[in-house]
Amino acid sequence: MYRAFLIKYGEIGLKGKNRHVFENMLKDQIKYHLDQLGEFEVIREQGRIFVSCPEEYDYEETVAELQKVFGVVGICPVVVVDSTEWETVTEAALEYVDRFYEKKDFTFKVEAKRADKRYPMTSPEMCCKLGESLLRRFESLKVDVHEPQVRVFVEVRTKSYIYSHIIPGPGGMPVGSGGKAMLLLSGGIDSPVAGYMIAKRGVALEATYFHAPPYTSERAKQKVVDLARIISAYTGPIRLNIVNFTDIQLYIYEQCPHEQLTIIMRRYMMKIAEKLALDSKCDGLVTGESIGQVASQTMKSLMATNAVCTLPVYRPLIAFDKQDIIDISEKIKTYETSILPYEDCCTIFVAKHPVTHPILSVIEKSETHLEEQIDRLMEEALSTIEVVNVG
Ligand code: ATP
Ligand code: MG
Repeated sequence: MYRAFLIKYGEIGLKGKNRHVFENMLKDQIKYHLDQLGEFEVIREQGRIFVSCPEEYDYEETVAELQKVFGVVGICPVVVVDSTEWETVTEAALEYVDRFYEKKDFTFKVEAKRADKRYPMTSPEMCCKLGESLLRRFESLKVDVHEPQVRVFVEVRTKSYIYSHIIPGPGGMPVGSGGKAMLLLSGGIDSPVAGYMIAKRGVALEATYFHAPPYTSERAKQKVVDLARIISAYTGPIRLNIVNFTDIQLYIYEQCPHEQLTIIMRRYMMKIAEKLALDSKCDGLVTGESIGQVASQTMKSLMATNAVCTLPVYRPLIAFDKQDIIDISEKIKTYETSILPYEDCCTIFVAKHPVTHPILSVIEKSETHLEEQIDRLMEEALSTIEVVNVG
């Protein structure tokens, strides 16, 4: 029934002189998402973004796709009137209400705007006049200017637009407007959610997964590829680097005290991820860590892990409870995949009693036992990376 959508955006509206740059990025993101569904046209006009739909399109599918575009705050299915003439606009608004509201027993308020201040009526006059016309045509309607059940929006621009439904979008900022970061993506629940959250702030993602065959299976790897693909529906394309971590892990296992394994392993993961991040011009690393969740995520452990990086490490879940993370993972549809059974290279060599309060100097001393081979092993890991592109 609708041939167009008006897209509302939030924070972008706060950008001063750069606003058009962000609007264009949002426009491109909307286009990127809708291109998979058909020949939609995305137009930016006078501080508004409109989506014009092809002859045949699936309304539900289109709305669902728009709800994945970060930066979109509201999606308004809109009736476009090819005129600014008040009589025509009024008639179209009456027809709109008649058509979209079967029962005319609600309270309403008209919110009318004009883009051109030379329009023969002021906005309050437009509201009053249209309110009157609606009351005259549909006698069971009532006006409530404070808490109306329906707000009838009318915008007169070069054309006129009528709408009353605002479907919530995801919010955030258009992907790419905030640069790019390297996500350490595992097969668990947390890291896909962390990636989603950072991307929601406008950051494009690249990802790295540490694989330890034969201790971790092909299936565990496939699971990470699947997770990357699921979040790429929101974040856009992701280049996933799959690092073979087995030899490094075995070497640490041979050379270092077992209760320090997890911390040392995580330090090497961060080092490798940082190298990859710098190579692909990322401005930070992203992990799914949350304070106190496990031994390797106490503040002391995080400090020890963090010490190997110079790039900032973003941990969007740092203060989230597990249940809150699960709630998001269900919403973004990663949960079902995340809970599939799999082996994680962090848990395979895990000690019975891992240190929970590592002392950096002690960890660094243990790592001196790695001096002989670690550089070569790191180089080998970096030169045998498998890349999978998703999205
Ligand atoms: P997740 O659910 O994200 O796996 P977790 O609760 O299992 O998290 P850890 O295994 O301690 O926590 O990992 C902490 C973070 O380190 C993860 O969120 C992820 O960002 C990163 N990480 C852990 N293992 C890997 C891996 N094999 N490959 C890439 N990143 C990893
Ligand atoms: Mg994990």
